Amino acid sequence: MNTNLQTGARHGKVLLVDDQQANLRLMHQILAGDYELFVATSGVQALELCERGAPDLVLLDVVMPGLDGLEVCRRLKQHPDTRGIAVIFVTAGTTPEEENACWAAGGADFVTKPVNPLTLRHRVRAHLQLKQYVDTLHALAFVDGLTGIANRRHLNERLEVEWRRCLRSGMPLAVLMIDVDFFKRYNDRYGHQAGDDCLKRVAGALSSAMQRAGDLAGRYGGEEFLCLLPETDVAATRALAERVELAVRALAIEHLDSATAPVVTISVGAAVVHPGPDQAPATLLQRADAALYKAKQLGRGQAFVSDEQD
Ligand code: GH3
Ligand code: MG
Ligand code: MG
Repeated sequence: MNTNLQTGARHGKVLLVDDQQANLRLMHQILAGDYELFVATSGVQALELCERGAPDLVLLDVVMPGLDGLEVCRRLKQHPDTRGIAVIFVTAGTTPEEENACWAAGGADFVTKPVNPLTLRHRVRAHLQLKQYVDTLHALAFVDGLTGIANRRHLNERLEVEWRRCLRSGMPLAVLMIDVDFFKRYNDRYGHQAGDDCLKRVAGALSSAMQRAGDLAGRYGGEEFLCLLPETDVAATRALAERVELAVRALAIEHLDSATAPVVTISVGAAVVHPGPDQAPATLLQRADAALYKAKQLGRGQAFVSDEQD
């Protein structure tokens, strides 16, 4: 049986979790023809597999020694990376209290033991289908159609979340506002299709430059991009802003009508704040925008870091 969740899916990746080998074998027999299956024999192992490469769905035994199924589910639902995984409890308990505990922990559904093969197949299929729709809608709503990186809505939502997180923790929050230099001239000389390709490559360079799991690069609109850098201080922000500028320059995309360089360059405006209760996230964007304006004024093809910090 496969324990590596990174490999491709057949019709969905399903993780089976039970401390009893016999139960695992039974579920495996029922589902093996239709899905890519993974198994875990403890709660801890289940969480590890979910963190390494999210399955689409988990069939989760409730009663297990150590970390029980309810706790595993609660932890999955707490973490943004694993929250979307559908959990179906497989339970011998059928009292209202036992059922309620499954819902309270964040389960999407449950099947009772002994497992009825047909019911199990139908439940799994229904929830995988639902998850597919949700994933598709999520991609349509939060991914920029041209470049494949985060879109403006995604950026704005994350900005709100990270703002509140940094407000609680007292850590700084930084953004880079990025604008491609002389991009109108680029389109005029090389054509709109080449312009689109250029934006895709710039987007790729920006997302590759993001280092930490919490960093997010997205397209804010037109030829403008935004990077969100939670828990990043001024020195680290400056370093990243400069690295991002160099990364785009290093793409070496010819731009003979640019007054800055013979290749495509970007201007980067960076701002860092310690979120306060009487400020709004818009303050941070305004500062980054002002810094971007400054970078443009100073000759483009460079980063400018706003010196206001609080
Ligand atoms: P600056 O250095 O001051 O930023 O000059 P600029 O020419 O880049 O700025 P301006 O705002 O005048 O022009 C932006 C251009 O970006 C105009 C617009 O046609 C182009 N643009 C915006 N979105 C897209 C897009 O999705 N694809 C393409 N190919 N071009 C785009
Ligand atoms: Mg612009
Ligand atoms: Mg521009």
